Amino acid sequence: MTVLVIGSIALDTLETPFGKVEDELGGAGSYFSFAASALTPVQLVGVVGSDFPERHIETFRSRGVDLRGLQRVEGGKTFRWSGRYEYDMNVAHTLDTQLNVFGEFEPNLPESYREAQFVYLANITPRVQLEVLDQVRNPRFVGLDSMNFWINNPDTKRDLTKVIQRVNAVFMNDAEIRQYTGKYNLFEAARGILALGPQVVLMKKGEHGAVAVSREGVFVAAAYPLETVKDPTGAGDSFAGGFMGHLAQSGDTSWAGIKRALVFGSVIASFAVESFGVEGLLQMQPEAIEDRFETLRNCTIFDSLPRPAAAAGT
Ligand code: AMP
Repeated sequence: MTVLVIGSIALDTLETPFGKVEDELGGAGSYFSFAASALTPVQLVGVVGSDFPERHIETFRSRGVDLRGLQRVEGGKTFRWSGRYEYDMNVAHTLDTQLNVFGEFEPNLPESYREAQFVYLANITPRVQLEVLDQVRNPRFVGLDSMNFWINNPDTKRDLTKVIQRVNAVFMNDAEIRQYTGKYNLFEAARGILALGPQVVLMKKGEHGAVAVSREGVFVAAAYPLETVKDPTGAGDSFAGGFMGHLAQSGDTSWAGIKRALVFGSVIASFAVESFGVEGLLQMQPEAIEDRFETLRNCTIFDSLPRPAAAAGT
């Protein structure tokens, strides 16, 4: 089944200890699309300016991403983000965010998008996330991501709470969960988010993996043990793309299906961070995805304790 995604489509300028790029293709919606399209068809909703290079449009096309929901504003400027990572690459330092055409964006979904069953509200203004959700008729599973930029401001935080109340899964990293709930303990914080309505909270913990918390239990997925990490930008969106892509592909939204999707998220994110920008996702091959899934399974599977021998005579 198809996944519909709304999120930033950006020109990113970023620096890590391993290199620097300027005005390269990025954005939460882009990373998500390239990640999920390895598993299932993707419909993208978003907006770019007339400065958005045609070669990037071709990149989306080459992955079969449906672009009927992508608007181009003539004379407008594309969303831009600039960030830096130090040696602790789990923390992104935002240097600049320019909403540009996203500031005025009023999404209008093509008819073919409105029946979407799986919807992902990637990081962007919560008002835009809500407007997209309002136009999808009867979604089966909706995921949501956000970040400190929207949690810091009381107005956008209020809108974010309205979105959280309408989704099945909330993706946040540990800092964002603490910031949103005002609670330090992550399990207590996750319970607070579940109390607003979602079925599961997916806590992203960078190189330490991810944890799902639902009313059915807690599940921990390790990060894939990579020896080369060059650029963590988009890891969260790629994780979500792997997760939602697998859910849509399998159609299994049970707790068991969610646990497996979490492992897919970790696997797909590992391809994103190995190279700069979206390159790692574009090079990813189906056999390599399966290999990494099995490796991760073998890294984390273990036997239960031996059963105590039955007492003599009983
Ligand atoms: P991630 O590393 O998964 O959190 O996502 C990185 C991507 O998010 C970058 O490519 C940015 O263009 C995009 N981004 C950064 N800040 C924002 C924001 N405030 N709203 C939407 N997208 C953003």
